[in-house]
Amino acid sequence: MKKESLENQFHKSLVDNLYDGIYFVDTERQITYWNKGAERITGYSDAFMVGKFCNHNILDHVTDEGRHLCIEGCPLLATIQDGEPHEAEVHLRHADGYRIPVVVRTSPIYNEDHKIIGAVEIFSNNQSLFRMKRRMIELEEGVFRDPLTGLGNRRLLEIKIQSALLEYRQHQIQSGLLFLDIDSFKQINDTYGHSTGDRILQNIAQNMNLHLRNTDLCGRWGGEEFIALLYNVDADKIPPIAEKLRAMIANSSITLGETKISVTVSIGVTLAREDDTQDSIVERADRLMYLSKQGGRNQVMVG
Ligand code: GH3
Ligand code: MG
Ligand code: MG
Repeated sequence: MKKESLENQFHKSLVDNLYDGIYFVDTERQITYWNKGAERITGYSDAFMVGKFCNHNILDHVTDEGRHLCIEGCPLLATIQDGEPHEAEVHLRHADGYRIPVVVRTSPIYNEDHKIIGAVEIFSNNQSLFRMKRRMIELEEGVFRDPLTGLGNRRLLEIKIQSALLEYRQHQIQSGLLFLDIDSFKQINDTYGHSTGDRILQNIAQNMNLHLRNTDLCGRWGGEEFIALLYNVDADKIPPIAEKLRAMIANSSITLGETKISVTVSIGVTLAREDDTQDSIVERADRLMYLSKQGGRNQVMVG
């Protein structure tokens, strides 16, 4: 046997037996080669696949959002057109109909004259990668969420306050900071119990979500203290925003048997300044909140 064909056979068996799925297409996207790994992952044999066109949509690559990449956005086509490698996370259709999550990577194939004559797609159904990704999203959620209220937690607030201050310095996008503390909350806990107190905290969180703007970040600073970062706000909008939130909370209640329980809140709210740090703006809003307490509670102080 000639050396060249021995080498060819060696390469073929190497590619055939890789764990990943591999297939080649020509510039018309007709499949010219389909390895054993591709057969194992998809359930389609090379006899069936070779000669088919990848836009026949047999594998029907679907993204997480349900986009059909073989029809619009095929990474192989992109590679043939721009000569660049492409990567996508998609769900392939198995011969038995179910969906398999895979990472696909495409690269161009050149002839000796350095002309693109097709492309190769390598895909692996790396289940553990997908599980890890999902887990990371869950962890991130856990790291930045307050479990009782579902709002952002102190860590998230700190990060967002710092970036809002930076945006103010760099792009003059001004933010306000609203500091809210429940009035006489200890008494609520003492009278109705801690779990009723928790329901009140959840109720406040709902009010913040519903009565601040979508672009405002609401979070639990700790205990019965909340902060809302009023992103990109005009100075004259601040008093009515805070006043509305105060009024909505004062007019809310939870029921415990026959009893309706309402709480009020004291609010301090302030605009970001050029030389503010996270501590200085929070302290200023906290002090204004405290002035609301001194003024008789259930009120807003703007400064
Ligand atoms: P003020 O009007 O001056 O703010 O009075 P207050 O009673 O609200 O203030 P204080 O700081 O004395 O009490 C805060 C209370 O908040 C004490 C604590 O038991 C309660 N608290 C803090 N975190 C939680 C929580 O997660 N759940 C419940 N139910 N209560 C909490
Ligand atoms: Mg407090
Ligand atoms: Mg309080």
